[in-house]
Amino acid sequence: MRKISIFGATGSIGQNTIDLIRRAPGDYDVVALTGGANIARLAQDAIALKADIAVTAYDDQLPALEAALAGSGVAAAAGQAALAEAAARPVDWVMSAIVGAAGLAPGLEALKQGATLALANKESLVCAGALLLETARRHNARLLPVDSEHSAVFQGLVGEDISAVERVVITASGGAFRDWPQEQLKTATVAQASSHPNWDMGQRITIDSASMFNKALEVIETREFFGVAPEQIEVVVHPESIVHALVGFRDGALMAHLGAPDMRHAIGYALHWPERRELPVERLDLARLATLTFRAPDPARYPALQLAYDVMDRGGLMGAVFNAAKERALDHFIAGRIGFLDMAAVVARVLAQFDSADRGLDEAMTLDTVSRTDHLARMEADNAILDYVR
Ligand code: NAD
Ligand code: MG
Repeated sequence: MRKISIFGATGSIGQNTIDLIRRAPGDYDVVALTGGANIARLAQDAIALKADIAVTAYDDQLPALEAALAGSGVAAAAGQAALAEAAARPVDWVMSAIVGAAGLAPGLEALKQGATLALANKESLVCAGALLLETARRHNARLLPVDSEHSAVFQGLVGEDISAVERVVITASGGAFRDWPQEQLKTATVAQASSHPNWDMGQRITIDSASMFNKALEVIETREFFGVAPEQIEVVVHPESIVHALVGFRDGALMAHLGAPDMRHAIGYALHWPERRELPVERLDLARLATLTFRAPDPARYPALQLAYDVMDRGGLMGAVFNAAKERALDHFIAGRIGFLDMAAVVARVLAQFDSADRGLDEAMTLDTVSRTDHLARMEADNAILDYVR
């Protein structure tokens, strides 16, 4: 039996992971499940999967979790220290599916135990890629991509030499507003931005898909995961979300990965790697699909994309600034304080602030320096929104 833990078990990726685990209960010994405020779901899954411990990120939810788990034999815990303690329990495989920079510390703990970390939490690679990779190397642990594009690239590289790679193309659906007139974007509401044409995901990544911030994070994630140069990474808009990524080689060949838009493929690939096992995903009928379309992303419509390249040019702790500013801008958009297009403007301002002042961006990357930079960038974003508040 493989020992596994799931961080962010109550979210969209967490629930898809549990769906796969449930299909082969005899194969897994579940150690820890973590979640947030959805205590009923966390407790129900922890009991069904016979987890050792369930942890909520929020201290004030502990009584509710204890009550829900009473008599089940599953231990209950709450708060950041409890998350870290649960993450430090030795396991073979961990799903890292907390949303945002909050996923970084538990992910590092898991790597220190030598666990294979299946990484859906792209934010941790964006804010601390070098630290995660170095921690994995030092503890002989492995990072596997779960983002659909990065799983696709990873699969395209099997048996290939990375030095033969000329370019990596990741696709973007274009999100909720891909067919809206540019002029209308500034009126986009939270509800409108929270529905995705092809994928069923958590609210934050769904809005990030509409603004293209998700793809911006993924460009940086591509650089960190595969070590390719920024100029080798391309984004193409592909509204059908059938081709997830393509790897281009120096002989001109392009290897594409196709599949239905169902995260259980990428999750299952990371779960069973290096084997391939049967997965409950739709098989594509190409004749019925008939056409797949591609177009270049319009930089005026999606300013977030260029920001990713600026961040990679600057390097160091700028990724932490970028992610934190984006998280705060998104918080403010969701709270109705700023408009949809203001998110990119706020993030651009924060990047410029950090670029022009000596903010320690070249300090060694540690959890402390990343956390401090993250904190400063959030404060800077809170200042920057004042000029945009409606
Ligand atoms: P979600 O919002 O559905 O779930 C997030 C999970 O994180 C929940 O369990 C929540 O309780 C927990 N959480 C939230 N804030 C937390 C905090 N401060 N501390 C601890 N736990 C916290 O999100 P999701 O869509 O499942 O996405 C999870 C991660 O996977 C994100 O990094 C996202 O970018 C990435 N991802 C998601 C998809 C998808 O299809 N949903 C695809 C690719 C990548
Ligand atoms: Mg993705």
